[in-house]
Amino acid sequence: MITLSKRQKRILIILLIAVVLFFLIQKLAESEPTTVSFGNIYYVDSADSEHLLVTMLDIGQGDAFLLECNGKLAMVDCGPPEALETILSYFDVHGIKKIDYFFGTHPHDDHLGSLSELIDNIEIETIVIPEVTVNVSPWYTDLTEKLADEDYYVEIASVGNRYFLGDTVIEIIGPLSEPSEDLNDYSIVMKVSFGEMDLLMTGDATTSVEKELLNANINLEAKILKVGHHGSKTSTSAKFLKAVNPDYALISCKVGNRYKHPTKEVMDRLFENNVTVYRTDECGTVHLIITKTDVTFCVEEGDYLSGPELEEKLNG
Ligand SMILES: [Zn+2]
Ligand SMILES: [Zn+2]
Repeated sequence: MITLSKRQKRILIILLIAVVLFFLIQKLAESEPTTVSFGNIYYVDSADSEHLLVTMLDIGQGDAFLLECNGKLAMVDCGPPEALETILSYFDVHGIKKIDYFFGTHPHDDHLGSLSELIDNIEIETIVIPEVTVNVSPWYTDLTEKLADEDYYVEIASVGNRYFLGDTVIEIIGPLSEPSEDLNDYSIVMKVSFGEMDLLMTGDATTSVEKELLNANINLEAKILKVGHHGSKTSTSAKFLKAVNPDYALISCKVGNRYKHPTKEVMDRLFENNVTVYRTDECGTVHLIITKTDVTFCVEEGDYLSGPELEEKLNG
């Protein structure tokens, strides 16, 4: 029998502990994100460099998205004034105290209506908005005046500008020319890239902006598409959808909205192109856990029903 000196025993114990620790760490690193217990703890733990977390908040009729990677946070739109409570309670639950970048796509109430009050409640480092001088409502003029008066850092959206959340790159790719009178066409168009994964966000941009992007031969391909204008038929043309060629679509709208979003035309088009749909009117808040090669959704996928059809199904 081998007898070990005290020193040798100590070394052996340390070695054993090191081996056990090594395998434990390996195991932890391999473990897949659990989608079942998605919530506060998971969300915070995953805001690392290996995941881009996208949240499409269920704020009713409008858009409000959160992008989080490597401890940095970006928000794209913040819904109408009524959305403020939902957003703030979400921030509260998830321990969000600061937003690094806020992108306000265009001056419509369902995208920027709650910004004036949001900035009173949370620190925002950089605010990116389009330059709009025509057709703006008094509330938007008040908002821009407040931003200027209170010395916020505001940047005018410019094509080619890039923003970084760790390895996530947010690039502004449109609009390419001076938009028409339609405020929707001022929408900042963004491509969010993380490894091989892309998310295209077009605000409420209409088919005329889509056409311009197609004509400019920009690479629009993206695994995930934030469907333009809540699924209105004024966006998501057949050609545009073909060029983006998404596997997944995100639609933010409210059950029974008066605009009848999303429209039958767009839902049929998504169905025909085999695009899996996630929509807040049916799925509620939608979380996406994106790795550099894949995406996991934390809710069941939605239906291809138009807004009025979904409303009828839910009421019937
Ligand atoms: Zn709009
Ligand atoms: Zn809108």
